[in-house]
Amino acid sequence: MDRFETIAEGVHAVRIPMPGGGLPYSLAYLVEDDRGRLHVIDPGSPTVEATGALLGAVDALGRTPHDIASIVITHLHADHAGGTAAVRAASGSTLLMHAREAEAAAALARGIPAPDLDAWGVPADRRPELLAAVASPIAAGLPAPDAVLADGDLLDIPGRRLRALWTPGHTPGHLCLHEEDAGLVFTGDHVLPTVNSGLGLGGPTATNPIADYLAGLSRIGELDALALPGHEHPFTGLAERTAALREHHLRRSREVAAHPGGTVWEIARDLTWTGGWDSLSGFTLLSALAQTAQHRDFVAP
Ligand SMILES: [Zn+2]
Repeated sequence: MDRFETIAEGVHAVRIPMPGGGLPYSLAYLVEDDRGRLHVIDPGSPTVEATGALLGAVDALGRTPHDIASIVITHLHADHAGGTAAVRAASGSTLLMHAREAEAAAALARGIPAPDLDAWGVPADRRPELLAAVASPIAAGLPAPDAVLADGDLLDIPGRRLRALWTPGHTPGHLCLHEEDAGLVFTGDHVLPTVNSGLGLGGPTATNPIADYLAGLSRIGELDALALPGHEHPFTGLAERTAALREHHLRRSREVAAHPGGTVWEIARDLTWTGGWDSLSGFTLLSALAQTAQHRDFVAP
């Protein structure tokens, strides 16, 4: 991919560099309307390089930042939404997200409530790193939206019919965006071609993120569309990919269910983890424990 790659008529993917040693880039999308304006899906990370990559693609398309009419974020994570404030400042565009994501971002800005480390059975020497991870912001600096989206809403993109599909699980207000006429669905982190996204990564919720996620997978799996994900590369075969993701999570739930009575710490220690249990620390350890707790509490349908 050079500055951008044109996926379909008026739809361009832009690789946005990510800081840190995880995934190398996120994918932002520039969508043209029939009035010559652009709409951004997920501006990317909160770095000068990331915003530069996005605005470089805008320039390569022969437009200026003032041609950006709107920004819609699939979810609040910094690698997708972190650049929002900078792109909005450069363009004066409106910002849209799902109502639940706006609520989650506001709650996270006040700090994630610490999990009950006693109930999880966390040894005393591992508690400081977990409390430090809880205290580090994951959605800092995300502006409040100008308008919120609900499931089924059509975006205000003249000449196109992009519909918001609420797909909670990865975060409480995660959105996919479906352009039925063009056979496209922007999947954010809900469905990636090879990476299995973590669940429950948007703060505490009243519902079980795994149950929420599996319900959303069914909807997306039925779409006959080219998937435009938030990382990696566009792909086809949503039915197969969503089935594999479902099985991945259900297998995990069965693994957890095979440890009745253990604390979350004891169960997690016995599970298999990419890179091994001993490699987990700080935020990755917190995430592993939280996901183990979700699986323990999840009642398979
Ligand atoms: Zn994410």
